[in-house]
Amino acid sequence: MTTARALRGPFDYRLPEELRGGAVQIGSMLVVPFGRREVLGVVVGLADSSEVAKEKLLAPLRALELGVPAEMVALAEWIAAEYCSTLARALTLVLPPGATRRLSGRKRRAVKRSVHLSVGTRAPEPPALNDDQRDVLASLQAELDDRAAHARLLHGVTGSGKTEVYLRAAEIALAQGRSAIILVPEIALTPQTVGRFIERFGDTVAVLHSQLRPGERYAEWRRLREGDARICVGPRSAVFAPVTQLGLIVVDEEHDASYKHEGDPRYDARDVAAERARRSGAVLLLGSATPRAESEHRVVASLLPRRADGRPLPVVEVLDMRGETHGLHPLSAQALERVRDARGKAIVLLNRRGWSNFLSCRSCGAVWSCPHCDVALVLHRAGGFLACHHCGHRERAPEHCEACSSMAVARHGAGTERMQHELASVLDDGSFPIFRLDADVAAGAATQTGGAKAPASAGESAVSALLRRFEAAPCGVLIGTQMVAKGHDFPDVSLGVVLDADATLRFPDFRAEERTFALIAQLAGRVGRGGEGRVLVQTIAPGSRPIVHAARHDSEGFLTGELERRRALDYPPFSHLIRIVCSAELPGPARAAAIAVRDALLAGDIDSPSDRPTVLGPASLFRLRGREREALVIKARTRLPAVRAAGDAVERVARAREHQGVNFSVDVDPQ
Ligand code: ADP
Ligand code: ZN
Ligand code: ZN
Repeated sequence: MTTARALRGPFDYRLPEELRGGAVQIGSMLVVPFGRREVLGVVVGLADSSEVAKEKLLAPLRALELGVPAEMVALAEWIAAEYCSTLARALTLVLPPGATRRLSGRKRRAVKRSVHLSVGTRAPEPPALNDDQRDVLASLQAELDDRAAHARLLHGVTGSGKTEVYLRAAEIALAQGRSAIILVPEIALTPQTVGRFIERFGDTVAVLHSQLRPGERYAEWRRLREGDARICVGPRSAVFAPVTQLGLIVVDEEHDASYKHEGDPRYDARDVAAERARRSGAVLLLGSATPRAESEHRVVASLLPRRADGRPLPVVEVLDMRGETHGLHPLSAQALERVRDARGKAIVLLNRRGWSNFLSCRSCGAVWSCPHCDVALVLHRAGGFLACHHCGHRERAPEHCEACSSMAVARHGAGTERMQHELASVLDDGSFPIFRLDADVAAGAATQTGGAKAPASAGESAVSALLRRFEAAPCGVLIGTQMVAKGHDFPDVSLGVVLDADATLRFPDFRAEERTFALIAQLAGRVGRGGEGRVLVQTIAPGSRPIVHAARHDSEGFLTGELERRRALDYPPFSHLIRIVCSAELPGPARAAAIAVRDALLAGDIDSPSDRPTVLGPASLFRLRGREREALVIKARTRLPAVRAAGDAVERVARAREHQGVNFSVDVDPQ
């Protein structure tokens, strides 16, 4: 990611007698001397000779008991090239969890399956498939029987029984003696899906959960590696599960942004899944009620147009907020009161956390902003602090303006914390709880100023605990960010309300419309699963395409329009995007580096003129973590030459002395 790409590798070692004869293969892990240290190495190739003089070649110290499957080394090579990274970094993705830690010889702990899952007594007898599900499974059966690579999109409305299709497909793969990988967006937010797999397949399932301690995680990895477990359920990194004889990869909620990894290598688990399936002759099954335009365009689709329980999708009404002064439209307030009076349940989505978006001084107009980033600080009232949602900076909530000493501090906008408070004041009659779910709740400790953030594991249990409490409560409202719209299957939610549905539309991103459509459709998917349902969408853009289509449950129509738009603007899937960001402490050097990268790109030798990528920018991004940033976006028809050209250009510029102090990042398929 940065200029420090020193450790290139691969490095040559001499195999001593005792390690010859097949014990060491591609994928074996060896402890090797490296300079003055001992490091863990992965065998990426075996050779009879080396360019390094024989007497200079060192021998490995020992071999670890278990390596990674050879096919994972090849996959890492593909990732390094595809995402402009290095093989060394890509290999870290496929290594067993905590690989380097175990060098110190720690004992492996027995797996403790302490994952908190709501595995009910939902009867273990699987439901008889309906006709739509049967059709999909017939196709999948044929594709699995074929034992060659296939890809299929399962475009099924929310509640159409996609999970049952995944379960049956996994059953077929298992019966063939093959294994399956089931990717889910986030275990804490999808405990029901995981629960169904454990319920159906028991110990054959290994769950890679971030709540697991390193030892437990390694034990699950080992069960997969040794074939004791043949189904792996987990978030995006589970695409690297060390199973062999792979028959099926399912990507549940394939539209979910969490499948993209935001660190080097910036891989997209959906594309890695496609590549892994292709290499293993496996079936890739992408499932969603709101698939991405890319998947709709590239992959054969099967439809599940109806809910499995035969109930209709909830009625969606659009409420025009132009001219409204309150956060809650009178009709939303009324509908929520009705749910309260009927002792029912509702979900309210507001995709913004905190109390208010920003503070300003009523006397002099000063705005409280982050000292490290050019963004306004968000008030978290319960904790009494202001926070930067980009770098995590926190400071005590002000009592007066530092510039003019005025005590008049205005709070603008509303986030989930404030809405929770407002809903409680309107609805709570002593026995109608208002639950809140957002990243602050997930972080646990986030309500205290200056406090360290709780580790992710604690956060995840906070999320599952909250979801369980809402599920168990006889009545109440769940308010939160997009987390409330994930695949939850609560049968007693009869009302959904989307506040400020345009918030996601205002993002300067070509996926903004798709995200907005998906968010509304997914929230609607949580509603009316056990009876009548109604969804209210508050917006100041009632005529916008995503909102109009979401109100009609028309994802086909939305996708058709979206693909037309993408084609006209030459966006993915009709082109590939690569984003290069140059950052430095001062704006001048960041911009100079970006211009140099652009010039290098435009001067680069590209084989045919039609392959020449378009380079947009540089454009200034807001200052982040004390660094000024300039971005270039490359639009290319052919992917690999463009990725290579981007990597070469960055490398060349990064090496020049005048660009010292500049960091570079290359993001292929940025999200
Ligand atoms: P999706 O993943 O498509 O949103 P789910 O898998 O959550 O849908 O299914 C919704 C509900 O319908 C679940 O409670 C599931 O057990 C049930 N279901 C699935 N298939 C059938 C079927 N063929 N008959 C009856 N109920 C079914
Ligand atoms: Zn002031
Ligand atoms: Zn900041």
